[in-house]
Amino acid sequence: MTRRRYSARERTALWDQCCSEQEFPICNICGLFVFPGQAWDVSHDPQNAPAALGGDAVGIAHRRCNRRHGAVVVTPLVAKIKRIRAKHIGAHECERGRRAMPCGRASPWRKKLSGEVVMRMAPSECRPSAFPKGGIR
Ligand SMILES: [Zn+2]
Repeated sequence: MTRRRYSARERTALWDQCCSEQEFPICNICGLFVFPGQAWDVSHDPQNAPAALGGDAVGIAHRRCNRRHGAVVVTPLVAKIKRIRAKHIGAHECERGRRAMPCGRASPWRKKLSGEVVMRMAPSECRPSAFPKGGIR
């Protein structure tokens, strides 16, 4: 996803919208005024979802505040949400493939209590009576 760029007209309209009652807009991260001449960014509202997660509420923040908030809060949050989702839908292969633990649950081999290593049976090779139609209760 690419970062949305705001034109000068959109940024001017946002500045005017954010300083509706006071003379200067307020940084939506630190709560201080953003004066003309200070570097500022169009910042997503920290109380709502970030843009990477579909949030669209925007305000004005000091560039320094916005960059620090993005690096400390938003980026790790989005990365964790992506990791959780990948694990939830099964896209993350932590237990399969070349990183499977030897004789572990995902390994084609299993180790018996006697220490003997045998090939794990595929589900098609299992006895049908081992899986009752009503399910295991
Ligand atoms: Zn600020």
